[in-house]
Amino acid sequence: MSYSRFGEADVYVYLDVSGYLTCCACNIVETQDAWGNYRAYDTEDMVNHLKDHRKNGDRVLTDTIERLWADHEENMEFILKTTFRHGEK
Ligand SMILES: [Zn+2]
Repeated sequence: MSYSRFGEADVYVYLDVSGYLTCCACNIVETQDAWGNYRAYDTEDMVNHLKDHRKNGDRVLTDTIERLWADHEENMEFILKTTFRHGEK
């Protein structure tokens, strides 16, 4: 599911099926994955990342951050389960 889309904001954020929160086509980090995305493995990391976007002058809806926290428990369960299965972390 997506938390933020281009058009309504300057970031595109969603929970990837592979088990992490993604900031799509991110332009504020030096280390992106092969698709130019930023990956966060917990809610707090992504929220801090979105605050960095705001500091950078990017538009991030408050609603996006509130929805990330609202889904925190569910997302963390999914992320931990999925990354454990993939052996990535
Ligand atoms: Zn980003």
